[in-house]
Amino acid sequence: MTLLITGGAGYIGSHTVLEFLSTGQDVLVLDNLSNSSQESLARVAALTGRTPAFVQGDVRDRALLDQLFSRHAISSVVHFAGLKAVGESVRKPLQYYDNNVTGTLVLCQAMAAAGVYHLVFSSSATVYGDPADMPITESCPTGRPTNPYGQSKLMVEQVLQDLAAADPRWSIALLRYFNPVGAHASGRIGEDPHGIPNNLLPYISQVAVGRLPQVSVFGNDYPTPDGTGVRDYIHVVDLALGHLAALNYLQQHTGLQTWNLGTGTGYSVLDMIHAFEAACGHPIPYAVAPRRPGDIAACWADPGKAARDLGWRAQRNLAQMMADAWRWQSGNPDGYAGG
Ligand code: NAD
Ligand code: UDP
Repeated sequence: MTLLITGGAGYIGSHTVLEFLSTGQDVLVLDNLSNSSQESLARVAALTGRTPAFVQGDVRDRALLDQLFSRHAISSVVHFAGLKAVGESVRKPLQYYDNNVTGTLVLCQAMAAAGVYHLVFSSSATVYGDPADMPITESCPTGRPTNPYGQSKLMVEQVLQDLAAADPRWSIALLRYFNPVGAHASGRIGEDPHGIPNNLLPYISQVAVGRLPQVSVFGNDYPTPDGTGVRDYIHVVDLALGHLAALNYLQQHTGLQTWNLGTGTGYSVLDMIHAFEAACGHPIPYAVAPRRPGDIAACWADPGKAARDLGWRAQRNLAQMMADAWRWQSGNPDGYAGG
């Protein structure tokens, strides 16, 4: 049986494709390459010795999906495809709702028509909004995301909850990712954002490699130990392995389940800069800048439910996240465009 992975050429997708291929699973990737390069999958094939089937296309294209479901013996879907830049989502809300919400609706319609009911969905800790208590458990109420990207994730969660409630054949995992960072230990695949990075780690990496002059630390007056924002950074390979564990669970249970995928530990922006300096061996220039609108002070997971239900726990520590991010960035200073 084949696993369909939408958005599988992207950052988290390519690492997840690699882990599934490594277990012997057949994988079909559907990606429109709007934010990725097929080179990531070529490298996954070189690393695993197995080539995933690839179709360049859009998850909103129902006719294409019907064709894929009829031509391949697809048993389950891991759905990464979507747009993820918070700032861009404020400027282009229609594109975000269309890709993220419509894309998931079309996918679920095609799945139901094909009789495929196992779905793993990429959600985000952003659905918690600005939570009152830490660490965040799955039973914390969802909040009010401050941007269309976050809203789109919350809307899809709601759609999938209604779907699972309406039809007991569905088996759905909502995986709420905390902050994925790092790269495969080989240094051959990693995060390759187009343009100026929005997220902290790719920004630090590009400063470290000389592509950008300095990191702006967005605020040092938060109520955190050093005043800078605190997040739960998780190694992308640990995150990828969480998808294997979730899919395994779905094969034995029906209904919808929600799991936080985080480490349970928070690090500040300055912790991250200093840990990266230790990995790359030279100072990272930075300057304190105003707070970024919409940011919260601190956010970290209680990952206990995933440990109990799935037997999954993040294994890789901050030093490994940074060493792997640096290996990828220094070996591929221009990302996949460098060849
Ligand atoms: P990414 O941009 O690297 O990967 C997304 C992939 O989906 C890209 O390859 C892109 O080309 C593809 N894509 C986008 N729209 C598509 C469409 N309509 N049809 C087909 N393919 C399409 O992003 P990522 O960091 O790997 O994120 C994967 C998923 O995880 C996204 O849904 C994202 O919202 C979610 N997520 C990411 C983070 C993060 O910090 N990286 C955190 C929480 C959740
Ligand atoms: N951040 C920063 N400078 C940057 C990018 C991010 O200081 O150039 C901070 C941001 O304010 C937050 C943390 O780093 O406290 C993580 O931000 P990121 O955008 O990576 O993820 P988020 O948690 O916002 O999804």
